[in-house]
Amino acid sequence: MTAAGLPRTQFHVMTKPIGPVCNLDCTYCYYLSKKNFFGEDNHWRMPDALVERYIRQYIAAQDVGEVNFSWQGGEPTLLGLDFFAKVVQWQKTYCPPTKRIVNDLQTNGTLLDDEWCRFLKNNRFLVGLSVDGPEGLHDCYRRDRRGRGTFDRVVRAARLMQEHGVEFNTLTVVNRMNAQHPSEVYRFLRDELGSKYLQFIPCVEPKGFAAVAPRHWDRSLLPPLGAAAARPGAAESVVTDWTVDPEDYGDFLCTIFDEWLRRDVGEVFVPIFDMALGVWLGMPASACYFAETCGKALAVEHDGSVYACDHFVYPEYKLGNLKESSLLDLLYTDRQMRFGLDKTDTLTQYCRDCEVRFVCNGECPKNRFLYAPDGEFGLTYLCAGLRTFFSHIDPWMKLMANELRAGRTADGVMKIANGQHPAAAASARPRIQTKLNARCPCGSGRKYKKCCYAMDQERKGQSL
Ligand code: SF4
Ligand code: SF4
Repeated sequence: MTAAGLPRTQFHVMTKPIGPVCNLDCTYCYYLSKKNFFGEDNHWRMPDALVERYIRQYIAAQDVGEVNFSWQGGEPTLLGLDFFAKVVQWQKTYCPPTKRIVNDLQTNGTLLDDEWCRFLKNNRFLVGLSVDGPEGLHDCYRRDRRGRGTFDRVVRAARLMQEHGVEFNTLTVVNRMNAQHPSEVYRFLRDELGSKYLQFIPCVEPKGFAAVAPRHWDRSLLPPLGAAAARPGAAESVVTDWTVDPEDYGDFLCTIFDEWLRRDVGEVFVPIFDMALGVWLGMPASACYFAETCGKALAVEHDGSVYACDHFVYPEYKLGNLKESSLLDLLYTDRQMRFGLDKTDTLTQYCRDCEVRFVCNGECPKNRFLYAPDGEFGLTYLCAGLRTFFSHIDPWMKLMANELRAGRTADGVMKIANGQHPAAAASARPRIQTKLNARCPCGSGRKYKKCCYAMDQERKGQSL
């Protein structure tokens, strides 16, 4: 085991074979600004020999049965089908019979056609389709170079993939606008686009700091007052206008969670909900953002350069280059270990004392640019929303975890959710005799009167 708590050979790489190059010009894209890091004479295409070398190394380095390749951009489909046909061929060449290859491709969908879909289907690629909601919300920031909205092209891509049986997920950037319309976004993705796996990524982009990693910012330029001053629209704001408001983000997640709980458990998958359930069941967080430590998700650029993380593609976080070093040698350096451990070592006292720290862990270091209420620097910009969300789901997660531990399926909670609060609904079930001094049916281990009953009473009082 490593200091970061994972087996030596379990790590993930995000591969960007076309660097930051894209056919669109989305307002919030942080990749486009990375072009400056790679110099003028760039070809923006990973050379064949380097792709082959990377594939060979990556397969050999993974000690797990399933080797997962993640292809991202920019827009990776700009490389053309020939590029990915060669990728698949090299994967076949270097994959031993004891391993299985899985490919993910993250795309804006605009270049997908029948030929692409046939290829993706035949080679069992899992596609991540970027879509931000119904037309008005999607086109708000996701525009092409001529300023035109891309909604129609994305919907067309989804339909094509459905016709060809290509498996796809949706990836939605939760931004300033769509965060204010959670139900519309969720229902559009689920009902109109037919997505069953909905990934939500908060848009957090500092203003004027793009060239420097957050840990190295000049803190004297940051608002000292904490979250309120940092938010979009505030006079001292340090984030772009399209950055999500942290409280909107919390409300967005809570609203979608409530709808999911009433009708979609077991049918629709939202990674942050699954991750949370795992944590409430006692497992480590499956997403690096919420894990205690990180540093096991490298980024490989088109020129072979390897970075500590896709969100830390800055010169000071460059670990080396595949042309000169092996992936494993770059991963298991003291420097990268330190990067991963810093996530917990630099946690503010405010986070350490927080009641949802066990599931939040201070979120991602890239967003830690606020002063905490006690004046310590390094609180995540999303804190207010995350605290709301994790507190909101707490009774339900306890109940779901309890159901699973008891050998029942978690989707039984949908029936309860269609009643009222977990405690009230659980107490109505004949098999549970809930007395005020008995253990709470939500599984918290506390007395009912001190746990869900108390919360229920509190809510009733608030709603009077
Ligand atoms: S910096 Fe953030 S995105 Fe990168 S590995 Fe750590 S938690 Fe994950
Ligand atoms: S909710 Fe806020 S205070 Fe609590 S652990 Fe997360 S970031 Fe820290």
